[in-house]
Amino acid sequence: MRVDVLTLFPGLFDGFIKDALIKRACQKGLLNLHIWHLRSWARSRHQQVDDYQFGGGPGMVLKPEPLFQAVDDLLQNRDAKPVTVYFAPSGELLDQDLLEELKDIDQFIFICGRYKGVDQRVIDEKVDRLVSIGDYVLSGGELPAMVMLEGLTRLIPGVINDLDSARSDSFQASLLEGPLYTRPEEFMDLKVPEVLLSGNHKSIADWRKEKAMEVTRRNRPDLWKRYIEADKTIKRDKNKEG
Ligand code: SAH
Repeated sequence: MRVDVLTLFPGLFDGFIKDALIKRACQKGLLNLHIWHLRSWARSRHQQVDDYQFGGGPGMVLKPEPLFQAVDDLLQNRDAKPVTVYFAPSGELLDQDLLEELKDIDQFIFICGRYKGVDQRVIDEKVDRLVSIGDYVLSGGELPAMVMLEGLTRLIPGVINDLDSARSDSFQASLLEGPLYTRPEEFMDLKVPEVLLSGNHKSIADWRKEKAMEVTRRNRPDLWKRYIEADKTIKRDKNKEG
């Protein structure tokens, strides 16, 4: 997967790409990541990339010219057309389903907004997907870009050694993950649940599912409702078949 990121703060990505998952994916040649400084596409003498908004109001808006030029330049010499993503609170919500939908796309261009955001003409002409990482406002698209990058990179085959572990994470089975325990068995009088030490795989799987259901029901009634409805449909279809 190739990802080109356009940002006014390339330094924010330094630690993120130099360690752990992203570093490993790049080293293995599974991720080809380029961080570009948007200011290098600014043409004015003061390298201005933002301006006041028409119609008045506080806050600056990223100008269209540098972004149009940058995206056009990044589109040169490609064998496939990349999907361009702009991060904005008004976009579609990033969730595991969206990551699954996008994970096989080979090339992305990520545009990180700043200040009030970007000129609408950039969105209309250059952006394929508008993505939000949640119902809150951050100061820039850099953290959202990193969130999406990490979410996508985990799904590239060969990046995570233990794919079974990734598959058992929250959301993969429409339920959140339940509690996890490691050694020691007893710590400050706090014991690991007996069933996990039993060696009985069926009981352990049942217990984990029970706990996953409990956590989902308690913490995320919205997901729980979806799970129950999907479960009902599966059972109904099974009955029809039978
Ligand atoms: N005026 C905008 C907020 C601008 S925040 C509005 O009211 O919707 C500045 C930049 O941060 C945005 O351009 C966007 O790229 C990024 N950003 C902030 N919050 C975000 C979120 N929840 N999801 C994705 N991007 C976000």
